[in-house]
Amino acid sequence: VLSVVRSVRFVGIARHFHVSKITMASHIVGYPRMGPKRELKFALESFWDGKSSAQELQKVAADLRTSIWKQMADAGIKYIPSNTFSYYDQVLDTTAMLGAVPSRYNWTGGEIGFDTYFSMARGNASVPAMEMTKWFDTNYHFIVPELGPDVKFSYASHKAVDEYKEAKSLGVDTVPVLIGPVTYLLLSKPAKGVEKTFPLLSLLDKILPIYKEVIAELKAAGALWIQFDEPTLVKDLESHQLETFTKAYAELESSLSGLNVLIETYFADIPAEAFKTLTSLKGVSAFGFDLVRGTQTLDLIKSGFPSGKYLFAGVVDGRNIWANDLASSLSILQTLEGIVGKEKLVVSTSSSLLHTAVDLVNETKLDTEIKSWLAFAAQKVVEVNALAKALAGQRDEAFFSANAEAQASRKSSPRVTNEAVQKAAASLKGSDHRRATNVSARLDAQQKKLNLPILPTTTIGSFPQTIELRRVRREYKAKKISEEEYVNAIKEEISKVVKLQEELDIDVLVHGEPERNDMVEYFGEQLSGFAFTANGWVQSYGSRCVKPPIIYGDVSRPKPMTVFWSTAAQSMTKRPMKGMLTGPVTILNWSFVRNDQPRFETCYQIALAIKDEVEDLEKAGITVIQIDEAALREGLPLRKSEHAFYLDWAVHSFRITNVGVQDTTQIHTHMCYSNFNDIIHSIIDMDADVITIENSRSDEKLLSVFREGVKYGAGIGPVLETNILWVNPDCGLKTRKYTEVKPALQNMVAAAKQLRTQL
Ligand code: GLN
Ligand code: ZN
Repeated sequence: VLSVVRSVRFVGIARHFHVSKITMASHIVGYPRMGPKRELKFALESFWDGKSSAQELQKVAADLRTSIWKQMADAGIKYIPSNTFSYYDQVLDTTAMLGAVPSRYNWTGGEIGFDTYFSMARGNASVPAMEMTKWFDTNYHFIVPELGPDVKFSYASHKAVDEYKEAKSLGVDTVPVLIGPVTYLLLSKPAKGVEKTFPLLSLLDKILPIYKEVIAELKAAGALWIQFDEPTLVKDLESHQLETFTKAYAELESSLSGLNVLIETYFADIPAEAFKTLTSLKGVSAFGFDLVRGTQTLDLIKSGFPSGKYLFAGVVDGRNIWANDLASSLSILQTLEGIVGKEKLVVSTSSSLLHTAVDLVNETKLDTEIKSWLAFAAQKVVEVNALAKALAGQRDEAFFSANAEAQASRKSSPRVTNEAVQKAAASLKGSDHRRATNVSARLDAQQKKLNLPILPTTTIGSFPQTIELRRVRREYKAKKISEEEYVNAIKEEISKVVKLQEELDIDVLVHGEPERNDMVEYFGEQLSGFAFTANGWVQSYGSRCVKPPIIYGDVSRPKPMTVFWSTAAQSMTKRPMKGMLTGPVTILNWSFVRNDQPRFETCYQIALAIKDEVEDLEKAGITVIQIDEAALREGLPLRKSEHAFYLDWAVHSFRITNVGVQDTTQIHTHMCYSNFNDIIHSIIDMDADVITIENSRSDEKLLSVFREGVKYGAGIGPVLETNILWVNPDCGLKTRKYTEVKPALQNMVAAAKQLRTQL
């Protein structure tokens, strides 16, 4: 990105390593940048806190890049990417490259430095950050470019060229990676004050000159290849959008001459129309496809791949943590070799490895059997090369047979298969599962029992987690305090939270979730079929990482998970105490999911486990139960043609969890983030009694969408007609401070009370 980076570029990197190995036709789309122990995260946060200098941050970053390039070079990878490192986000890097800094950051031109870059990413004292949104259907979030007719584009970050040169000075000739111009525009949004209908693609002519400058510099620096990531090609595009690809690469053709040009797509099957457009692009010599996520791309390749072009076959999964089934990949590769020829086939990853964990080497607590089933980014690099070598007739027999053994052990392990669970889950398919009574009748029955005021108040579940509380959990886990001490400490915390809610006069209470570190991990740790890593972090955004559990086997619930805490909490108050569970779809979407059975199968298994918990809570006297589906929207597939199927089994899974409860038991669900407009019917089809959704930041649109839902009669937190309206915060309060939470809840209750008198 940054001018500062350029000036101190190679300080501290004296190592220059030689790549003497013969490289096979192997390629890596991109690599995680956080480091095996989140080194970049800590360096960034320390820099942001003013505890370390820009140079220190740059040194950590340079060392990470060096070690990644060295690792790939040592493994024998031929096409090693550069410019896949980022201090924050690769889309923001592209925004910096194009000088598309929104005017509110008062950038005055020249090379963009840390100040402007991190202000765009995180905001500063006087201006807010740029918007962040999900990167396709991953849990990675990118910074959304804000564009309009007035943006003055300029070549303002030489990062791509700098990284190329940096690798080269270390003895590694890399493939510089750029986000393609059309994907960049398709991911952007009209800037503030620009009409919502502004044709963003019309800016193509303005950004291409800058791409040309970058290409020219890369060529001058000696680059032989260039990779453009154009993953939007797998989405449902309109014909004018596809035409923009044709136009863009025709325009770049002469600049690109002399370079091998790879266009990389990933995350799904590529639609037939887009495949045709892509493979007809001028000046492009290589195409990369995700062959893990879809099966139709393979058919498209078989039915017609342009002769003389390279095929980068993404057979090693960039989105998951499972070891590749090498034998099966090899057979796919051999088929492809028959189509494109030996010289033109390159073994690759299905996407950037950004979306998987970094290195299995640091997992000392996982047992060896499970470990043998896994491959993180570092292991995937080795797999890619092993496949390329095998294709070239130099199969590493020991590596292949160890892999075959691990595949076989995973298939036959009794830890994976639980006949009873398989049977129960299989019997759910094809049926519907709905509560017998309709929602308005249920709400009546519930109201008789709960006797709540109109506009009842509640919260979403968690209360602030203090340092002290985290310490208690940590010490209990490390066996530094006894179970008794732990239980007493948590109970005391619950009692504080209950008292506070009674003082605030909230109607339906929560216990505050003090025993939970994370809403998925807490359940995963108590369910069978889950494993946890020590360092399996994946970047979510900026310096923020998540550590998804690994679902490796059939899921079941050996014993109740929340009943102890919920009943303890209920015993402390006469007001209804909400039981608090995480729903099956959210547990699924926030985990690494097994790839040896369909996702819905795993989801049904989790649903059955949660169902047991719901029924145990009901038996224990809990009459209001919230089942959070924070991530339901997130799991929506990229292609519209797959939406209905996903929504059907996801919503069905949710209903399974509470189909067995009495009419008088009130089921709540909560979903974070807005943008529910397109799935409103599915949300209604969840058949919950009360739906709480975020509406504090989103606009009126959500309300109007739900107007229709009102016909359905369910209670909806911040929506409409008062007889079914609830009042609550937009999400959990875990990361807040009591000093913020108390006054906010006070105001919330006061507002509800005032409204009650006016109705
Ligand atoms: N019950 C959870 C909490 O309050 C819900 C969190 C979420 O929706 N992300 O923390
Ligand atoms: Zn939420």
